[in-house]
Amino acid sequence: MINITPILCRAGTMDNYSYLITDKQSNISALIDPSEVGPIVTVCQAKSIKPQYILNTHHHFDHTDGNLELKKLYNCKVVGNEEDKSRIRGLDISLKKGEIFHIGSSQCQIISVDGHTIGHILYYFADSKALFTGDTLFNLCIGGIFEGTPEQMWNSIQKIKSLPEDTLFYPGHEYTLHAAREALYFSQNDKEVQKYLQTAQSRLAQGLPAGPFTLGEEKRCNPYLSAANYEEFLQRLNY
Ligand SMILES: [Zn+2]
Repeated sequence: MINITPILCRAGTMDNYSYLITDKQSNISALIDPSEVGPIVTVCQAKSIKPQYILNTHHHFDHTDGNLELKKLYNCKVVGNEEDKSRIRGLDISLKKGEIFHIGSSQCQIISVDGHTIGHILYYFADSKALFTGDTLFNLCIGGIFEGTPEQMWNSIQKIKSLPEDTLFYPGHEYTLHAAREALYFSQNDKEVQKYLQTAQSRLAQGLPAGPFTLGEEKRCNPYLSAANYEEFLQRLNY
């Protein structure tokens, strides 16, 4: 089981989330997508934690920019998809799709989700019911399709939808309020989207991330997950 601490990076510009995760049994820690060094070091210092790993979901600079400096500072290993070997800064440990990686006694499954980029992966901690979705799934929306095709993104979304509904997911950016209008427009269930937004707004007002929400909530409220078929998904992409 892991503890999860979200760390807002590039606040006010790109609003990235990095995450500090710690295996409760061994106290071994890892950073997910460290996009900025300062806020991460502040949190690690406050908790007296030296992370042993950096886990990257994909190669984009706003997810990997802290890799080299933090690797030097903590002497930690950078972990990512072997397909992104030439694009992730300082990569030490290459992962294959479907592989299981361990942070102490907590294990995570590597789920391949091409679409936003080719080589994007998710880290799924089944025992902790936690899924780190990088730039593939956000609250109420999905990532831009930069390297893959809409069909690849659709297939990736179906993989996410096949995971247990009580899984909490942790996205790579805070985009919730930007996505609200679109979610309300497409929603078949306005009340549930309204409730989702109220929860999100009240957390944001307290200086917290809007999430986490469960995949079940997301399947009902996110227009890209609630699309009934691929045709509808394509229509929603062109909203
Ligand atoms: Zn990205």
